[in-house]
Amino acid sequence: MKRAIILSLNANSGEINEIVSLAKTAGYNIVKLIVQNRRNPDSRYYIGKGKVREVKELIKKLGLNENDKVIVNAELKPTQAYNLMKEFNIPVIDRVQLILEIFAQHAGSKEAKLQIELAKLKYEIPFIREYIRLSKLNELPGFLGGGGYEIDSIYYTIKRRINRIEREIKKIRQRRQLFYTSRRNMGIPIVTLTGYTCAGKTSIFNRLVNENKPVDEKPFTTLSPKSKALLNIDRKVIVVDTVGFIDKVPVQLIEAFYSTLEEVINSNLILLVVDISEDRSEIKRKVIGSFRILSEIGVVGIPIIILANKIDKVKSKSDLTQKIEYLREIAETLYDNIIDIIPVSAITGENIDKVIEKIKNTLFPEKVKLKVIIDYESVGKLHGLILTTQINGDKVLCETLVPKEMLPKILDEIKKLNGLVVKVEQ
Ligand code: GDP
Ligand code: MG
Repeated sequence: MKRAIILSLNANSGEINEIVSLAKTAGYNIVKLIVQNRRNPDSRYYIGKGKVREVKELIKKLGLNENDKVIVNAELKPTQAYNLMKEFNIPVIDRVQLILEIFAQHAGSKEAKLQIELAKLKYEIPFIREYIRLSKLNELPGFLGGGGYEIDSIYYTIKRRINRIEREIKKIRQRRQLFYTSRRNMGIPIVTLTGYTCAGKTSIFNRLVNENKPVDEKPFTTLSPKSKALLNIDRKVIVVDTVGFIDKVPVQLIEAFYSTLEEVINSNLILLVVDISEDRSEIKRKVIGSFRILSEIGVVGIPIIILANKIDKVKSKSDLTQKIEYLREIAETLYDNIIDIIPVSAITGENIDKVIEKIKNTLFPEKVKLKVIIDYESVGKLHGLILTTQINGDKVLCETLVPKEMLPKILDEIKKLNGLVVKVEQ
């Protein structure tokens, strides 16, 4: 497993949690987290010169090499990145590049892949320019390739590639591939896991995969095993673990960010994961943020099940009940197709069975046949449910097919209309 040291200045615990979670998501084993308190970043190294020496020694001691990385929780200036690499002699990436790595791992469609490659090249071009300038003065670390000539040619290759990608994205957009995406899944429903980084999407994804044998099928061998699975949840369902929402997405990455979330728009059901162990203000901020992003990418009317995760970390039962009520109040004013809010724990596995049951009932509702006799003038009030009617005086015999889950509610309605239930067939 590739290893990483994380460096950060003046970060609060939320920011630390986020960068650690991002690094884990990208597949790093974090061997050390260093947070330095300093008024201003150092112009040459970002962190202080003393810290640089300390990290350099640590890298030697741990035996890190060019497959490992130093991740800096900031947007580095090209000179800073260059100077750090020169000192550490292993690759150094910043927060933007880390997020780009994650996006690249999650990109599904051709357009998303190009979009991310474009963002990466554009972000890195000032760095390359700086390496060229400095490499003419100094010697470069080995992993950056050889002398000035090679770097020059890399620079021009990148420029050409950027132009090509821009043309290609334009072409793909002109073709507007709605038709293509709708056929890609051959009618198999898609369930996407969304929510902020660190909410527990991947942990829940793994739970779902463990409790449902993945279906092995040829056309799906291209599914990325890390973030997608074809499962048997009653019938076949594709479950997608998305990249997740990130606070303060760097502006250069906004388009790429949205393109990694495009699968969410094509999904039949969204599981929105919320960390219910956080305090109320954080829950509120993230729920509002989640629905804002969902609306921005064009999600309208897709059923959403909210998973209030990490209940094992909530102190008391009453605390949990109150928080869920609070969450419900906020969520219901923001979106009108929330199917349910289920308290869960990906760690203990509590209520994962309920989640699976709910997915089944939402995607494949079991229908029940119902025969009722009601007054002629009440027929209109049972609108949308009537299959056949038979007039007999002022009474009507209706035969309807209703989702099993809705049966109690409908029977109640019939009672209110003074109807008579003749038969219920399961
Ligand atoms: P993601 O970024 O949304 O995919 O979140 P992850 O699944 O990577 O989880 C982020 C962190 O939260 C990890 O350290 C998990 O171990 C932890 N976590 C996830 N679910 C739970 C849970 O139900 N309870 C507790 N206590 N921790 C959890
Ligand atoms: Mg994840």
